[in-house]
Amino acid sequence: MERRNTPQRRLVLETVRELMHPDAEQVYERVAAKKPNISKATVYRNLNLLAEEGEIGRVRTAAGADRFDHDAYRHCHFRCRACGKVFDAPFFPQPYPSPAHEGEFLVESCNVEFVGLCPACDKKQ
Ligand SMILES: [Zn+2]
Ligand SMILES: [Zn+2]
Repeated sequence: MERRNTPQRRLVLETVRELMHPDAEQVYERVAAKKPNISKATVYRNLNLLAEEGEIGRVRTAAGADRFDHDAYRHCHFRCRACGKVFDAPFFPQPYPSPAHEGEFLVESCNVEFVGLCPACDKKQ
């Protein structure tokens, strides 16, 4: 597909990888800082395309807008209720399949969301 490697698409993908779990607005702000003439519609369209094609993940959270995810593979998240940041839950076994998952459960989606305080916010309280 011709548009597969447009500079806008690459910039959006690179930005999601930098921010790890941004919402669309955060991606737009960061992209616009690098390339001021890009439109919000272009950023949003590329985000949705990248998510549909499985290059990035989409995370639904119980609070606010969907987040996009640098890691497209299904895994569980921790959301900080103070700063709103979303993290890959480091304390919870992530359901990555074993190399041969035949005869085992094949996880196709995962919506576990832990909520609490991230280490930085926990220190402030
Ligand atoms: Zn926090
Ligand atoms: Zn994630």
